Amino acid sequence: MPAAIRLPTRESLAAARARGRKIITVLRRRYPDPRVPLRHENPLQLLVATILSAQCTDAMVNRVTPALFQRYRAAADFANADPRELEELIRPTGFFRQKTKAIMAASHTLVERFGGEVPSTMEELLMLEGVGRKTANVILGGYYGVPGVVVDTHVRRLSQRLGLTGQDDPEKIEQDLMRFIPREEWSAFSLRLIFFGREICTARNPRCPVCPLNRLCPSAKYRGAPPWMARRPQARGPRGRAGQTRRRRAVRRVARRAKRG
Ligand code: SF4
Repeated sequence: MPAAIRLPTRESLAAARARGRKIITVLRRRYPDPRVPLRHENPLQLLVATILSAQCTDAMVNRVTPALFQRYRAAADFANADPRELEELIRPTGFFRQKTKAIMAASHTLVERFGGEVPSTMEELLMLEGVGRKTANVILGGYYGVPGVVVDTHVRRLSQRLGLTGQDDPEKIEQDLMRFIPREEWSAFSLRLIFFGREICTARNPRCPVCPLNRLCPSAKYRGAPPWMARRPQARGPRGRAGQTRRRRAVRRVARRAKRG
């Protein structure tokens, strides 16, 4: 039995659910037909594009993928690629060595275990190296039409600011949102939160005074920096631990995210 939803405020669960429904309505109006912004024609392309999107903008990924998908068309092509050639093609997306390893490792598994096809269940997708629940849910919702809550950095931040979860771990946030949001809305709601997080409720400068969710958001009065988020470890400054350069920490972050998906 799943643990009870842990809300960050004193709001009752019933009140939070009612507020959640209103939030869904506002976001649905603003983004009526949300689509995964990574260009793709098949699930393999979506898988590769999602791996490339770690620490990179969708626009940059979309600039890189046409030539990439022209060169490599099947999982076997990626699995047998010359790593240096693949690295050069994806270099503009950053962290290209780690991403090359992740793409090739996942492609090997696709060839060896799934006949070169990208599977359509969470359980099977999680068998692919470098694929965690986030990437799996992008593929399930974005290509196979299987509802899933994608918890990326925007969804994590917004669900916390909106007081829909008191959790910090992406998997627990996913569980909380799955119980707040109707199943058929899971994928679209995630995409809407991502778009809203880029447009209005940005990490550094949330536009609370003009935000259409202002009246529904417990963080509005804190200008997006509520006390329940200030206690979180991710609020550590850029010079967090002694002896770690920013670059090394960023590499570790990408590796962790790639593992989580
Ligand atoms: S009111 Fe502020 S913190 Fe709340 S959703 Fe809007 S921009 Fe984000």
